[in-house]
Amino acid sequence: MRRLLGTLFFIVTSLSAYDYALKPVRITSDVTCFIGLPEVMNTTNNGNITNNCYIDAGDGYVVVDTGPSYAYAASAYKAMQRIKPLPVKLVINTHIHDDHWLGNNFYTQMGVRVLGSDDFKVSADMSTPARMQTYISPNAYAQSVPTMPTDFISTDTNLSIGNQTLHLIFAKQKAHTLKDMVVYVPKSKVLIAADLVFNDRLPSVRGGDINGWLSTLDDLDKLGAEHVVGGHGYRTDKNAAQMTREYFMQMRAEIRAAIADGLGIDETVKKVSMDTYKKYKLYEGTHRQNVETSYRTLEWEQQ
Ligand SMILES: [Zn+2]
Repeated sequence: MRRLLGTLFFIVTSLSAYDYALKPVRITSDVTCFIGLPEVMNTTNNGNITNNCYIDAGDGYVVVDTGPSYAYAASAYKAMQRIKPLPVKLVINTHIHDDHWLGNNFYTQMGVRVLGSDDFKVSADMSTPARMQTYISPNAYAQSVPTMPTDFISTDTNLSIGNQTLHLIFAKQKAHTLKDMVVYVPKSKVLIAADLVFNDRLPSVRGGDINGWLSTLDDLDKLGAEHVVGGHGYRTDKNAAQMTREYFMQMRAEIRAAIADGLGIDETVKKVSMDTYKKYKLYEGTHRQNVETSYRTLEWEQQ
């Protein structure tokens, strides 16, 4: 009887686990991604707002970013097992923002190592509740336990795993965050650029540096990728960085002109409204902050 009750309890809890019903998007024969909505996290999308990828290394998968929750990681894993039932060999975290790594404990629970930059030890704030914990439904967040990478790297690293050699490349300077990592898959020329590339919504440079971001995009161009998967947005062709680059190029030129004209930060925020970008999601709430942050970066150039 006790065993029966135990079984019933297990079935009930399994059924009640939130299912994101993620749809895999095939980028190449060896890279499959889950593409999130270009939105702010809320109780409807439950944090399905970021892009996370699986790389097929022949005898196993390498997962790049784990999404907003344990349940999200479980949904992605389930979808990939349906395509090809391979074990996960390694997880990579591209940067410290928690919409990209709160699924970590789904994988560590299976005994998988998680590789991240040493910036996690400096900049990841584990003392306050995760944003997801506050803004998505408790059902979707259930079972998520904020979990740091198990292994840290501080410089560019080539990893040989199965039939793949993966290039883990760091931005040379502060860009989207203090330390951004990308994953390049040379075999199929796929660049998983994480939050250095946004599409279909405005990027956020709060906590970053507009100059470092633009020069990092130039560095990434030199890889010659045929497919570029950003951290947010649907576009994944080789020119997928176009919108992010054009947005920040225009912003930098307009802010520099405003500073040269002697405008203060409030006047500059009003002037640099970049109205053609109003059609993008997250314009409200992101654009103004981007101008403010970038003004503070760029005003030092003049001195
Ligand atoms: Zn980010």
